[in-house]
Amino acid sequence: MSADRLLPTNNIVRPDKDRFLSENNPFEGMMSRFDRAAELLDLEPGIYKVLRHPEKQIITSIPVMLDNGEVEVFTGIRVLYNTSRGPAKGGIRFDMNVNLDEVTALAAWMTWKCAVVNIPFGGSKGGVICDPLKMSVGELERLTRRYTASIISTLGPDSDVPAPDVNTNERVMAWIMDTYSMRVGHTVTAVVTGKPVEMGGSLGRREATGRGCMIVTKQALVHLGMEIKGATLAVQGFGNVGSIGAQLLQREGCKVVAISDRTGGVHNPKGIDVDDAIAYVKEHKTLEGYPKGAPITNEQLLLLEVDVLLPAALENVITSKNAANVKAKIICEGANGPTTAAAEAILDEKGVFVIPDILANAGGVTVSYFEWVQDRGGYFWTEKTVIERLTEIMTHSFGAVLDLSKQHKVNMRTAAYMLAISRVATVHRLRGIYA
Ligand code: NAD
Repeated sequence: MSADRLLPTNNIVRPDKDRFLSENNPFEGMMSRFDRAAELLDLEPGIYKVLRHPEKQIITSIPVMLDNGEVEVFTGIRVLYNTSRGPAKGGIRFDMNVNLDEVTALAAWMTWKCAVVNIPFGGSKGGVICDPLKMSVGELERLTRRYTASIISTLGPDSDVPAPDVNTNERVMAWIMDTYSMRVGHTVTAVVTGKPVEMGGSLGRREATGRGCMIVTKQALVHLGMEIKGATLAVQGFGNVGSIGAQLLQREGCKVVAISDRTGGVHNPKGIDVDDAIAYVKEHKTLEGYPKGAPITNEQLLLLEVDVLLPAALENVITSKNAANVKAKIICEGANGPTTAAAEAILDEKGVFVIPDILANAGGVTVSYFEWVQDRGGYFWTEKTVIERLTEIMTHSFGAVLDLSKQHKVNMRTAAYMLAISRVATVHRLRGIYA
């Protein structure tokens, strides 16, 4: 038996008090943005209290038989932040830095993100503390299946629907779907999104987050009266979001001058052929040694003189320490939480136009929603239809957030939070408090 612990929602476990108080705590950063938007919305105290708390946090111990015959026990987390608007939706990440604060912040971001693009989902997130790069495929499969079994009480197409995130992919989703289906006794494709297309995945899902970043970046360029053709772009993180965002923006005419991954980056003011770099990573697993530019660190990349910066790796990379030296005119937050609240104030002062994560990277969850709809209807759309509907939702959402930001004279992030919180709060008012 795994040791599941259902934690009371008014007792958020904070593994490290100093970390919670620091600028880099993602939960604290999310809450400071939430508070600002709630104040501007004049949110009533009851709903304010409800929305400051996650609905459910699960911490579970996951014993796994390793290939060498030894047993290792991993820690897994699943947080359902808010399900008032529909089933919880949120990815699962496998990473050594996973912790409860981070997962809770990510689950809250999912709640606001689904509300910004107005899809009928709540928000959740999950993670397992592990280093998947050091594990065999067999070990990863056993870890995934046991984690799935441990959180099965929350999972289901009507209750909680995972998706890939950092270091998880289509194959991991296939294992989760199979484990869940075996437990309930029949195939349930809609229990996860981001699955292989052959087993109920959606065309266009793999590219969706990067495509969403491309769509909103183009709109930001238009809004600021800048040309897309020749606009310079630096991209941190060259995984699903970063590489596809870079590829699609290059196809639209942007000049990609720098890219990076966990091993460091490459800078070439004449432009980097993104297709070529993707092919290199496919062969070598990382960008390390990519020869078509000068080496650059991840920190240097963030400070390049470019029109657009696309942080698409992890959170807290733009902080109070480096924000004053950021020279980009537009930041499109492909990653979740790349800018700390303290850094945001500095960027505002400098007049940097930040497209906030809960809008910028919402293309992924939007096509996840399309996948869930297709699975439940058993009728699958063409890629053209997926792209058209995604473009419509992202374009409309960018416009709605921009209008609100002008109306209230606030930045795009505060406007996005206001839009999201008001939508979630409206449903809470209509539903009332169950007693
Ligand atoms: P991924 O695992 O495919 O790629 C992550 C990339 O970041 C890799 O290139 C990795 O080498 C790089 N990286 C890791 N640590 C780094 C570091 N310390 N410095 C620089 N680069 C580093 O992950 P992804 O799916 O592309 O997700 C990236 C970000 O986008 C995450 O914040 C994720 O939560 C967010 N996001 C992803 C999706 C999606 O659909 N995949 C949707 C919304 C948000």
